[in-house]
Amino acid sequence: MHILVVNCGSSSVKAEVIDLSTGKRIVVMSVDRISDAQPKLKFSDNQEVLACPASGHEQALAFAFPMLIEKLDKNLLKGVGHRVVHGGKIFDEPALITEEVEKQIESLYSLAPLHNPINLLGVRIAKKYFPDVPHVAVFDTAFHSTIPPKAKNYALPQNLIEKHYIERYGFHGTSHRYVAQQAANYLGADIHDLRIISCHLGNGASVCAIEHGVSVETSMGMTPLEGLVMGTRSGDIDAGIITYLMEQENMTWQQVSDMLNKESGMKGIAGSNDMRDLEERAADGDVQAQLAIDMFVHRLRKYIGAYAAVMGGADAIIFTAGIGENSASLRSKIVYKLNYMRAIIDENKNKMLKFIGVEDVEDISASNSLCKILVVKTDEQLSIAEQTAKVIKSSKLKNQAPRNIPIAVSARHVHLTQESVEILFGKGYQLTEQKPLSQPGQFACNEMVTLVGPKNKIEKVRILGPTRPKDQVEISRTDEFFLGIDAPIRESGHTEGSPGLTLIGPAGKLELKEGVICAWRHIHMHPDDAEYFGVKDKDIVEVRVENQERGLTFGNVLIRVSDKFKLEMHIDTDEANAAELNQGAEGSLVLTGAGGMLTKKKVS
Ligand code: ADP
Repeated sequence: MHILVVNCGSSSVKAEVIDLSTGKRIVVMSVDRISDAQPKLKFSDNQEVLACPASGHEQALAFAFPMLIEKLDKNLLKGVGHRVVHGGKIFDEPALITEEVEKQIESLYSLAPLHNPINLLGVRIAKKYFPDVPHVAVFDTAFHSTIPPKAKNYALPQNLIEKHYIERYGFHGTSHRYVAQQAANYLGADIHDLRIISCHLGNGASVCAIEHGVSVETSMGMTPLEGLVMGTRSGDIDAGIITYLMEQENMTWQQVSDMLNKESGMKGIAGSNDMRDLEERAADGDVQAQLAIDMFVHRLRKYIGAYAAVMGGADAIIFTAGIGENSASLRSKIVYKLNYMRAIIDENKNKMLKFIGVEDVEDISASNSLCKILVVKTDEQLSIAEQTAKVIKSSKLKNQAPRNIPIAVSARHVHLTQESVEILFGKGYQLTEQKPLSQPGQFACNEMVTLVGPKNKIEKVRILGPTRPKDQVEISRTDEFFLGIDAPIRESGHTEGSPGLTLIGPAGKLELKEGVICAWRHIHMHPDDAEYFGVKDKDIVEVRVENQERGLTFGNVLIRVSDKFKLEMHIDTDEANAAELNQGAEGSLVLTGAGGMLTKKKVS
């Protein structure tokens, strides 16, 4: 599948055709200096710089897109992904671009006057040249929609906040999301188990706290101006300085805006926004360049400490983008003194690190560093292409017949290790199958045991096979009260710290130290189903069930995805009784709003 990614900015347009099966770039195109009389057009397969015959986006792209089309295989091109900077409160996911979505992007012009109008212009021009494939908008802000209100809100009068949709939207979301996932893959960890501080350090720079795989804080705010010291942006300043300067210098809002966005940051301090240049000058004794670097480092170190405090620690710090990927000396300065959060750099690995396109993730932490320090090559275009493909696939699936979710009622049951089977049934004993269960490979056994709690016992509790690496007893809330124990609601397999119980079998007694849980209601699904519903493993969703008498919604339903699973929701007997559900009941995920997306909360 080939996807064209278009990043339409005010002074340049970048476009890449990516083969998603290999990640390879088929064509890379850029049009620079778009308002010049003859904008400059370049293709990656050719060093030649071509002059577009006329100025402006429409005219330059009218020249460039037909040439791009000649270089690609139109049969393989399945969609166009557009970078759109601001999704406001409307878009927390990428969206298939319909007329309605175009209007919604327009409605956000006032929040991002420098970006959204140009991004949408790019969409409209591209639609003319690629009318036969779906177009998808991928928003820089979307990843940050999970930031909780205490971090999202500004302490300003509520009437103004509501009237003008003022809140922390955050930016660079595509990059933060991408590098965090790359880091989790590299560490062989589930992203939901990590606390990550991602530092995107380019001309624009931001830092993001990612907990359980979702953004919980980020340094850019309602606009990209807040936060770190950047190439030409000031980052955090006392807002009082603005009103002071407007009065003292008689400045208009436009002058202040230009000063803060274009003339401040490292350019303001030392006259250049190029970190390479500043590092050279600093080494030659230029005091202002030294100050600019010190301020950049200090501000970022302050944020890293703050975000570790927000998440109660950090398992990984990521450096990415131009400065993060390339400047060993900056990385070294930033992590200096982070020993208190167990982040210790290996200076040798750091210095030796060069991105030559071999690895996309490099570990520069010392062997005794508990917090990993990683350098990750960002690839926003690839991420946009992947998200675009996902939206296209799931929108096709959504046009198919609706997929209902069969509901199965799990009676209390026991999973055992082979060792425990032998204690309860005798040495060398093997479980025997009574009947297969709906999840492939699983079966109900002929064997049963008695559960003995402090208060009562329950006889004839069935064992489910095959044997597992850990013992686990799954009971309902009512069983808990009957047995006299307090079992936590947990995902299967997560028995740490749960209470124990005595099991009695024909050959012996087994004292479990832990392993008794009340199963968290969940849906098993195959990756195809997950794609269809637009959810992923560990998402939390709501399920609507219509039975004869009344409809009801189950909240807090955990999604579990595996290619071994068959679509089915599992609830326990208490829940089934309370909801008056019979065999054969079915549920559906709750569908809502923007772009036909599903209502889904992420684990946080
Ligand atoms: P953006 O995409 O925001 O324009 P980039 O991610 O391309 O920015 O990063 C640009 C920044 O990276 C510039 O400040 C540039 O000087 C810096 N940079 C690139 N290579 C190096 C390097 N080898 N050492 C230090 N800084 C570098």
